[in-house]
Amino acid sequence: MVLNTVLKLGSARKVAADGTDADAPLDVTRLLTTITDNLVGMIYRCRVDAIWTMEYVSDGCHKLTGYRPDELVFNTRVSYDQITLPEDRAQVSRTIHAALESNTSFEVEYRIQRADGRVCWVLERGVGIRNENSRLAWIEGYIQDISDRMAANEMLREAVRRYSSIFEHATEGIFQTTPEGRYLNANPALAHIYGHASADALIEHLQDISRQLYVLPERRAAFVNLMQEHGAVRNFESQVHRMDGSVIWISENARAVMNADGSVQFFEGTVVDITERKQHEAELEYQANHDSLTGLPNRLLLGDRIEQAIAKAHRENMRVAVVFVDLDHFKLINDSLGHHIGDRLLLEVADRLMTCVRSHDTVARQGGDEFVLVLTEQHDADETLAIVNRLLEVISKPWLHDGQEYGLGCSIGISCYPRDGDTPDALLRCADIAMYKAKSSGRSTYHAYTPELNQAISERLELQNNLRHALERNEFRVYYQPRVDVASGRIIGAEALIRWDCPVKGLIPPDSFISIAEETGLIIPIGQWILQEACRQNRAWQRAGLPSISVSVNLSPIQFRHTGLVQSVADALQQAELHPSWLELELTESFVMHDAERINVAMQSLKALGVDIAVDDFGTGYSSLSYLKRFPVDRLKVDKSFVRDIDSDPDDAAIVRAIITMGHALGLKVVAEGVETRAHLDFLRQHGCDELQGYFFSRPVPAAEMEVLLSGTATGPSQCTSPRIK
Ligand code: C2E
Ligand code: CA
Ligand code: CA
Repeated sequence: MVLNTVLKLGSARKVAADGTDADAPLDVTRLLTTITDNLVGMIYRCRVDAIWTMEYVSDGCHKLTGYRPDELVFNTRVSYDQITLPEDRAQVSRTIHAALESNTSFEVEYRIQRADGRVCWVLERGVGIRNENSRLAWIEGYIQDISDRMAANEMLREAVRRYSSIFEHATEGIFQTTPEGRYLNANPALAHIYGHASADALIEHLQDISRQLYVLPERRAAFVNLMQEHGAVRNFESQVHRMDGSVIWISENARAVMNADGSVQFFEGTVVDITERKQHEAELEYQANHDSLTGLPNRLLLGDRIEQAIAKAHRENMRVAVVFVDLDHFKLINDSLGHHIGDRLLLEVADRLMTCVRSHDTVARQGGDEFVLVLTEQHDADETLAIVNRLLEVISKPWLHDGQEYGLGCSIGISCYPRDGDTPDALLRCADIAMYKAKSSGRSTYHAYTPELNQAISERLELQNNLRHALERNEFRVYYQPRVDVASGRIIGAEALIRWDCPVKGLIPPDSFISIAEETGLIIPIGQWILQEACRQNRAWQRAGLPSISVSVNLSPIQFRHTGLVQSVADALQQAELHPSWLELELTESFVMHDAERINVAMQSLKALGVDIAVDDFGTGYSSLSYLKRFPVDRLKVDKSFVRDIDSDPDDAAIVRAIITMGHALGLKVVAEGVETRAHLDFLRQHGCDELQGYFFSRPVPAAEMEVLLSGTATGPSQCTSPRIK
């Protein structure tokens, strides 16, 4: 094509500053050649034929198609139709012909295959040109490479596809909401979390988020506030209603999308259902704060409760009572009947305790057999004592299990805010100390804290400490108290009674330390020591030619539970070379009846060694005749509390007579202990009691004094015993 137009722009010739002739005519041909040659893309003129025969292409042809212009012009090597990707040819042709027919320019995007085989996208713009006969003969136009733009578009489309896939398939709920509380957008996961059939259904249904969704509408208000203040929320946890009415926990992460003027356009963010986690957390928290057996608050929660009670009492000028309840002899039940039954008993106790308190009070399990009650809104001591008396009453009701009745008891210590302290620790410590006092004053009772008790407790701790060393320092002594045969008036036995010869405190009676020895387990070595010592001493008396007597040794229930008791009795006998018939073991009645079956088995094996067995403190427990009959028992020792008033209290007299009769009916010997007066002696002799023991004859005495008593009977009626009986 030849462009030979020369335009003359203006007629005045001017010479510019740089010397060029400003008025020189513009060489449009040169201008257009420059443009066409440097244009990115290809200018062309082609025929309107089937293969778009090119008559002219600009130099850009090479860059665009990879073919030189002379290879394309007049289809020398390829036609433009050939370059056009076969799949796109029909559409290109359709578009161009439609434009030509309507005499408009066209614009079409399609792909070509370059000389190097590479496919690229092009945009062609063109217009039909008519010949002198007004027939459409050519197309003139411009083709440019739009591969980059198409690739970018494709990437954009891909990104959109990807993001909408994330939106559609995410497991997290995704939302856009208006600040007023309507949904603009929601994904299927959100619909699922909130229990709607589809995202559309959710958007349709939830028109007022704060009212319809949040359990507490304030949560939505807090959400909006945070958004307005910080533009975002992180892990914002709330409870929401699902469509089916159930309530779930969700956690939201969201941000505010702002308008150009800084106002909030909408909120967008994600939602996860954290109900399971919340439940798990709640369970863990419950477990951390509650006792697994009874479900009562545990030590940890108890501290909180006392603290809250103190704070409230402080505000309202009231008192708080902390009541420490410790079951008596629970260890015994637990060990002898088994933990399974021990657990049942604890559950029963927990139930009973609950019946004594009001809803704002706390019953907690401190551990083991210790319970603590926090009594709030206490006006005065009487109010507290009324509850404590009720506690003692309900706990002491016998407990029935498997047709067997068990006696229960507890010792109670009381401390009080503000008098005894103003922290949970202080109140618990005081109540604990008071409880110990109740235990040592005979159990099944209560004691309130006093500062003097603190002193007593530290003494007790010191005692406990010293007791540990007493055995190795050889500080224990055995005293003997004679037992006299009513018929002959002779000493036929002696009870071995332990004393602790403490270098600081002097001679300490067993009641002051046996319970500590039992608690600490020291009773095991101590009990073994006294067995050995009593056997050795008895054998020594026999070797010295004194009349043979039976020596009775008291056994603690703890020793009984300890495996190896039978062996240690056998060892003691063997070491001392004492015949078993000269040893008697005393067991308290209450203990024997705790677990009759098992104790019967143990008793049988002791009995098999050849020793005698006595039931001590008889009358204080709950003996059942049927058991007594089956037990291998030789003696009943009537408790001294019945003997004391035998001559003045008709009830006691009747009990002692009944025990004697019953014992004899079972073929047992009956011993009365605590015989202090002539009147005691007369009564007992009159009613057929077999043997007697008590201050009337002798206090417990050291071995050397016992020896004197024994030698007295050996040589005839001694000053101390026989003369008084006869
Ligand atoms: P127990 O087995 O009932 O012992 C009888 C207690 O009554 C003894 O007190 C004794 O001294 C006291 N007694 C004796 N005659 C009379 C009397 O006429 N009037 C009065 N009021 N009391 C009298 P003791 O020696 O203080 O022992 C107290 C308890 O300590 C014993 O009660 C026994 O349960 C326990 N005990 C003593 N020695 C041992 C021991 O070696 N091992 C174990 N496990 N317990 C022991
Ligand atoms: Ca005894
Ligand atoms: Ca006794």
